[in-house]
Amino acid sequence: MAQLDFSEQVTVVVGTANKHFTVPKCFRTKTCDFFKACCNGQWKEATFKKVDLPDADTDAFAAYLQWLCTGEVVVAEDARDTVTSESPSEERDRVAREQYAPFIELAVLADMVGDTTCGNAVVDATIELLCRISAGPTWEEMRVVYDKLPTATGVRRAFVDWCARSLDVEELEEFRPTWVSYTDLTFDVMAKALKIARGEACEQPSAVNSCKYHEHNDKVPKCI
Ligand SMILES: [Zn+2]
Repeated sequence: MAQLDFSEQVTVVVGTANKHFTVPKCFRTKTCDFFKACCNGQWKEATFKKVDLPDADTDAFAAYLQWLCTGEVVVAEDARDTVTSESPSEERDRVAREQYAPFIELAVLADMVGDTTCGNAVVDATIELLCRISAGPTWEEMRVVYDKLPTATGVRRAFVDWCARSLDVEELEEFRPTWVSYTDLTFDVMAKALKIARGEACEQPSAVNSCKYHEHNDKVPKCI
């Protein structure tokens, strides 16, 4: 691996509030297509010092930088590591509300900048949390997933499988008046739930099978 040069930096201006982040240029070598996607190839110009990401979420970009630096998906200061499926449901729901929305925004950012490895890391973090706290996203969070992420995105597929596996009929009844604005989402969840009811194989997303929710390509080889 080549030695990284941290002496050169670039400013990334993020979101509608124009928040400035200073990023070492060498980060472009660590991850797939980030600056290429952001700069449309202008990166090659030695004088190029600023990248605009007006449509990106500021907190998601901060989380993305932390992931670049540490390899860890961290989206909020919280007690998520101490909450388990044995914890009271209010605790589990609180952690779910703290974590899933930022996970989704980070997945959206990874998709926006074409960073497959980061997208896969968000899949792993999401599945780890789903399994550990045994609490899923809300329908509103799922709507954001459907509005902002492509069909094949791992986070989207993992959430659909999770919701279908843990479908709560009462909650679904309560939610019925808004079904009309959730057509594609309810269809996918119901179709999967029907398959499960018929006994067709559909594993709950888990750390063991998380690779089936990953995206792999020539730059990001399959997990072993
Ligand atoms: Zn994989």
